[in-house]
Amino acid sequence: MQSRNSYRGRLAPSPTGLLHLGHARTFWIAALRAIEHQGTLILRNEDLDPQRSRPDFAKAMLEDLHWLGIRWAEGPDCGGDYGPYTQSERRAHYLDAWRRLRDGGFIYPCTCSRKDLAQAASAPNDSDDEPVYPGHCRGRNDAAGLLAAAGVNWRFRVPDGEEFVFTDLNLGEQRYVAGHDFGDFLIWRRDDVPSYQVAVVVDDAAMRVTEVVRGADLLKSTARQLLLLRALSLPVPAYFHCELLRDASGARLAKRHDALSIRRLRQSGMSPESVLELAFRPTVPSDVSNLGRLQG
Ligand code: GLU
Repeated sequence: MQSRNSYRGRLAPSPTGLLHLGHARTFWIAALRAIEHQGTLILRNEDLDPQRSRPDFAKAMLEDLHWLGIRWAEGPDCGGDYGPYTQSERRAHYLDAWRRLRDGGFIYPCTCSRKDLAQAASAPNDSDDEPVYPGHCRGRNDAAGLLAAAGVNWRFRVPDGEEFVFTDLNLGEQRYVAGHDFGDFLIWRRDDVPSYQVAVVVDDAAMRVTEVVRGADLLKSTARQLLLLRALSLPVPAYFHCELLRDASGARLAKRHDALSIRRLRQSGMSPESVLELAFRPTVPSDVSNLGRLQG
């Protein structure tokens, strides 16, 4: 068997809808980078939010990525040394991180009722990024007395004014100021769901990920994650954020673009090569109903 070097990359799809052309592009780049580095690619099922994740979407995302020609060496379907590879089965890891953050004084309980609750378990992006928290509860000092994560929202107290600078391997130097570009972000939801931010740093470290390849909509989340990595004394991976694929009107592709899902394009008769060709265009046409016939 070919010897593998220490590069470990990951595909981290969320089963909250069908994967679309934007995912095809990002995950193809992630797979190529792992191949170029003769590294190991893992797949992690990010089914953190029980209200939004569905098993049929989890099944579809594995099938669609496989159909595109992407292969991973570790994942929910094939196992591996750092499993389980499904976030809903990794609660003990997240609770351990919550405890360490609470004991270290990094987080505080927040009883503000906010609409952003529902968003915390999913990765934020440009258009629905977690709003800057105004800080009503940040002075609370009763964290140590709360022994369960559930029941309140837990927020990370960000160091206001501190600048976070990192060099993205694709997009170059990035700068974000805590308290300005992002505020005290959620770590745990009152309905007992860990946040995307905490789960992703815990898993990337536990799964020995050395490079994170994902969409540029998560650049600001990287700044939050650098804070978390520091608080938890975890190693910092390299970052490679991919430009987002946009439709003809300039809108970022989202799971609601059902017609641009890998599944629908496949059903329309397109080949994996044609789907990838479309995914690497600067913009994709909103109406691809004829593409299957033309290019399939
Ligand atoms: N699961 C996240 C998403 O589907 C991506 C997380 C990540 O790559 O860090 O948006």
